[in-house]
Amino acid sequence: MLVEDDPSIAEVLALHLQAAGCEVQPYAGGRAALDGAGGGWPDLVILDLGLPDGLDGMGVLRGLRRRQDVPVLILTARAEPRDRVRGLEAGADDYVCKPFDTEEVLARVRALLRRSGHPAGECLTAGELRIDRARYAVTIRGRDAALSPREVDLLFVLVQAQTRALTRGQLLDRVWGEAEVDPRVVDAYVTRVRRKLTEAWGDRGAVPWEIVTVWGVGYRFRLRGPEGPPP
Ligand code: CA
Repeated sequence: MLVEDDPSIAEVLALHLQAAGCEVQPYAGGRAALDGAGGGWPDLVILDLGLPDGLDGMGVLRGLRRRQDVPVLILTARAEPRDRVRGLEAGADDYVCKPFDTEEVLARVRALLRRSGHPAGECLTAGELRIDRARYAVTIRGRDAALSPREVDLLFVLVQAQTRALTRGQLLDRVWGEAEVDPRVVDAYVTRVRRKLTEAWGDRGAVPWEIVTVWGVGYRFRLRGPEGPPP
């Protein structure tokens, strides 16, 4: 959960977090954030202190702390030591001052997630598709696609590559972790993953994603646009 009212900061952070494999739910105000947090427990909260709509970051922090024990990283322009102390005493787990270095924020996010038992980058979403590698679950609008653990790994790696094509060798390396497997095994798995995803999608019209065969290279994942596949 990313609570930040400055759209340029929120956008940059969201992009970097998503690239690191995090699913980001942005909020531009304190009240919206606190209301939204009840809908699905976040694994971590990045919280700006100076927020509009009548509830600042400290208010959000107190509200969160009453309800759940989620790691909170405060991100703020208030750099005074007493502000830091107030934030940490109110239950924040870490504190970064603006202007900040994005890599440092990501490193702190990873550290907090590790400590709380939710390693970063275990969940990916692509349109309606949600891949939870830690629980080996792929769901489409909440419906389980019934993929085997190896198939979940394969799909995860393809989606994580963000439209870049991966060779069979790279897939073997990242999914099977060994070179002794016949590369044709990859083809068989891709075929199965395609079929299971299409089955789980059902008859709701054209399947909004595809695993593309890149001849002479390997495979890549892509989401189709609403107007059909891009060129
Ligand atoms: Ca602010």
